[in-house]
Amino acid sequence: MRPSRNHRPPAPGPRMDFVTVKHVDEKAYLILGTQIFGAWIHYVGGSSKPCHQPDAECERCDLEQPRRWVGYLHAVLQGGKDDFFLSIPPFAGYNLIQSLGQDYNLRGRILHIRRKTDHPQSRLLIRWEGGDTTRVAYIREKDPSPYVGILFHKWDRLTTPEKLA
Ligand SMILES: [Zn+2]
Repeated sequence: MRPSRNHRPPAPGPRMDFVTVKHVDEKAYLILGTQIFGAWIHYVGGSSKPCHQPDAECERCDLEQPRRWVGYLHAVLQGGKDDFFLSIPPFAGYNLIQSLGQDYNLRGRILHIRRKTDHPQSRLLIRWEGGDTTRVAYIREKDPSPYVGILFHKWDRLTTPEKLA
């Protein structure tokens, strides 16, 4: 590494928060995304890494590292102003989609969400009420893919010096 005045700080990439519900008191989320985006991730050493199956070979699958599904849903707290991606665990995601049917559209719906207990692995409870798309007209739906990519990329960059050592 050679510090130089010519090395400008990189322009910031797109940024969005990923929110995991931890509260046991029910809160209302206004949903901006039409659907849940799902991905498979590996949990290794306390952090998540992308699974490349089925699009490409995945070395973590070859090593039989455990993987799990995670859903991302574009949302804003009702009455709040900053939008984010809500993490949806598999069981809650499955139940939600089952209750809505194949061609579901969540945009404009209110989801009332809470954890069953304050244990982090506790079940996520979701109940929903009908839609009103006029309330969400001012925020465009966002695809979480580029933001998820940046999360993982950041992790890779952070660990690069260790790999070189
Ligand atoms: Zn994998």
